[in-house]
Amino acid sequence: MSLTRRTFLGLAGAAVLAPARARAQTAGPRVVVVGGGFGGASCARALRQLEPKIVVTLVEASATFTACPFSNAVIGGLRELSAQQFGYARVAADGITLVQAMATGVDAAAKTVTLADGRRLPYDRLVLAPGIDIRWGALSGYDEAAAAVMPHAWKAGEQTLLLRRQLEAMDDGGLVVISAPGNPFRCPPGPYERASLIAHFLKTRKPKSKLLVLDAKDTFSKQRLFQAAWAELYPGLLEWVPLSKGGAVTSVDPATLTLTTDFGKHQAKVANVIPPQKAGRIAEVAGATDRSGWCPIDPVTFESKLQPAIHVIGDAAIAGAMPKSAFAANSQAKSCAAAIATLLAGGTPAMPKLINTCYSLVAPDYGISVAGVYTPTNGQLADVPGAGGLSPATAPRGARQAEAVLAEAWFRTITGEAFG
Ligand SMILES: Cc1cc2nc3c(=O)[nH]c(=O)nc-3n(C[C@H](O)[C@H](O)[C@H](O)COP(=O)(O)OP(=O)(O)OC[C@H]3O[C@@H](n4cnc5c(N)ncnc54)[C@H](O)[C@@H]3O)c2cc1C
Repeated sequence: MSLTRRTFLGLAGAAVLAPARARAQTAGPRVVVVGGGFGGASCARALRQLEPKIVVTLVEASATFTACPFSNAVIGGLRELSAQQFGYARVAADGITLVQAMATGVDAAAKTVTLADGRRLPYDRLVLAPGIDIRWGALSGYDEAAAAVMPHAWKAGEQTLLLRRQLEAMDDGGLVVISAPGNPFRCPPGPYERASLIAHFLKTRKPKSKLLVLDAKDTFSKQRLFQAAWAELYPGLLEWVPLSKGGAVTSVDPATLTLTTDFGKHQAKVANVIPPQKAGRIAEVAGATDRSGWCPIDPVTFESKLQPAIHVIGDAAIAGAMPKSAFAANSQAKSCAAAIATLLAGGTPAMPKLINTCYSLVAPDYGISVAGVYTPTNGQLADVPGAGGLSPATAPRGARQAEAVLAEAWFRTITGEAFG
């Protein structure tokens, strides 16, 4: 169930610059959260649960959230996009004020967030959870117009459907090319799960076709597990070209669907360009990004190292050894909420331990995973040695099937915590 636009805006109006006297009588400290994705929605809810006196406002540009995890299954024709979409009715039911609007400005000195229509929201603490934006132009030839022809599909929604339609429309025997970026980027195993599920689509629907993965890296997440599964499931169909063998794409030409590397040119029938990324734009506007384009944070509180009283969680943050994943965003959301509740009460936040698990599907009934535990060490989030692990290198097919089922269960849990 999702909120109607009118309800969303109506709730929004109530929160905007409420008169100070009324607020003093009824309300505690104000936390504004920008971005209602895995990080922001989970953080807003955790704050309300930890301390109901905190007045929490969630600013989100869309009325419906479209989740990226499992969107590769949509591209591979195994799932519908509607299974990825969630409304905010339950979030509102928790007593969180929803504002459906784009946040366009932050005045860190005055402690206000400005919305696209000019309204201003005052805060005592601000949480930025805007996810990623594409670095348009960082890859020569790849701009917003090019993405309409060579989709990135790295934000789920129309782009996901565009890539799926292109694959469905392609003649059997066509060349599909995926270009994978250098680190850091959203979802380190994501390009390789996508390659797997596109390979599965081609194997079952267009078996004369070929899939080439051009990579700007020599190594990637869960590499041995992926490569062993590819050799077993997609021999001769899927080829991965690492950086050292000419994999780095240096420019693209949307007019001819050509991807150029230092070693040559590849003309595709379908080209999925996963371009370089950066923190969502509002983080930059707030002055919370450094020269890398991402946001340095204190690993205990997630407070920006550049802007006091502004916390950054999820993909936008530089979280040390933690990958940019929905699981990590959720884990950071809870730690950040606990730290903010403690700070607002005048206390000292405890040292957190955060966890992450990333499941990937190599085929519909073949799952693999990597898990880690992280704690602040020397000003960064570092791996707790010996605490994580990978799926075993060799395992009976039943174990891989069980991991695929666990992946689905994880998705239900994580979306339930954010939106359910
Ligand atoms: C193909 C693919 C597969 C993936 N698979 C997995 C997986 O299996 N497991 C996993 O853990 N992770 C996976 N991920 C990664 C996961 O999607 C991200 O890490 C996660 O979404 C990050 O959460 P976030 O809250 O930082 O950002 P998001 O979830 O992207 O949320 C950001 C929200 O902020 C809003 N927003 C941005 N700017 C503004 C603004 N100025 N004003 C108002 N609203 C704003 C956006 O509309 C959006 O709703 C996958 C990603 C991809 C691309």
